[in-house]
Amino acid sequence: MIVVLEKAVNDRQIENIIKHLEDYGLSVHKSSGAEQIVFAAIGAQPEFDIRKIKMLDGVSEVYRITEPYKLAGRTFQKEDTLININGRIIGSNNIVVMAGPCAVENEEQIFSIAELISKSGAKFLRGGAFKPRSSPYSFQGLGKEGLQLLRKAADKYNLLVVTEILDGNQINLIEEYADILQIGTRNMQNYSLLSTVGKSTKPVMLKRGLSATIEEWLMAAEYILFNGNKNVLLCERGIRTFETYTRFTFDLAAIPVVHKKSHLPVVADPSHATGFRDKVIPMARAAVAAGADGLIIEVHNNPEAALSDGPQALLPSEFEDLMKQVKLIAEVIGRTME
Ligand code: PEP
Ligand code: MN
Repeated sequence: MIVVLEKAVNDRQIENIIKHLEDYGLSVHKSSGAEQIVFAAIGAQPEFDIRKIKMLDGVSEVYRITEPYKLAGRTFQKEDTLININGRIIGSNNIVVMAGPCAVENEEQIFSIAELISKSGAKFLRGGAFKPRSSPYSFQGLGKEGLQLLRKAADKYNLLVVTEILDGNQINLIEEYADILQIGTRNMQNYSLLSTVGKSTKPVMLKRGLSATIEEWLMAAEYILFNGNKNVLLCERGIRTFETYTRFTFDLAAIPVVHKKSHLPVVADPSHATGFRDKVIPMARAAVAAGADGLIIEVHNNPEAALSDGPQALLPSEFEDLMKQVKLIAEVIGRTME
C-alpha cells in the first residue's frame, strides 16, 4: 500500500502515521527524492481496510500497489534512482561504462587492462576474483589476492571497482575492496545472498537470472531493497532461449520494459549476452540506443590466453572503437558519456 502524505504534514503527524502503520504489522519504507513524502507500507492483506490510514491527519492519498514488487516499482518511486559512488552517478542522463577482464589473472594483466580502459573513457574496472564457473575444473579466480590487485589497479587509474560476490560469507572481504557488489546470473535467486547484500552499504548490481522473467528479476531486486539497500542496479546479460548461434539471447526489449516498470538503473552486458567478440559492439550500440544507463564490457589484453571468457573479450583497439561509437549514439538520443 502506498501512503502519500500532505505537503504541509508536520513531524508529529508523520510519527503518528508511522506508528499506526507499524501497529497494523506493516513494514514502512520511505521513498526518496519525491516532492511529497511517500511511504510504502508492506504486508497489508487484501482485506485490510485502507480507510483506516486514509483518515489519519497528514495523509493525502492511500492506494494499493498491484505489482508483486513494491519498492522496485514506479508506483512507489516515480523518479529514477540515482546511485552516487564518490561523486560518480549511475542512473542519470550520463551513461557509465564498466570494463575489464572476466577474471583477474595476474598483476600485469589487470594493470594493463585498467590502463587501457581508463584511457578510452571507462569509469569502472570489472573483474572476477571469485568465479562461478560451470566446471569445477576451470579457473576459479584468485580470491583475496584478485581483489587486492583489482583495487590497486583501479586506484592507480582513477577507476571504481565492480566484482562478484558468490557467497554471503565473502561479504566483509569484498566490501573492503569493491565499490559495487555484483550478483551473478546464477545467484539471482539466491535469496539468502540477496538478503545479505541488502544489508550492505555498497551498491549492488543484480544480473538477470539466465532463465528469469523480468518480474522474477524485479522480485530479486525487491529482496535487496526490502533489506534496506536502496542502491540497486539491474543488469541485462542475456537469457536462455532455443537459439544456439549466440551464447545467450540478448533481451534488448527488457531495457525499456524495466525502465517503465522500475526506477532502478539498467546496465547492459553484451559480452555475456552474445558470447562472441564480433557481436559485442553491435549489441552495445543497440543497448545504448534502447536506453541503457550503463554498459559492462569484457576486455582483455591477450584474449587467446585468457583464463575465462576469452572468445567474448574485446581487444584493446576494439574497446576504443566501441567507446567512440556508443558516445555518438548517446549524443543522438540526448545523453552524455563523460
Ligand atoms: C561475469 O560477469 O563474469 C559473469 C560471470 O557474469 P554472469 O553472472 O552474467 O554470467
Ligand atoms: Mn565473464
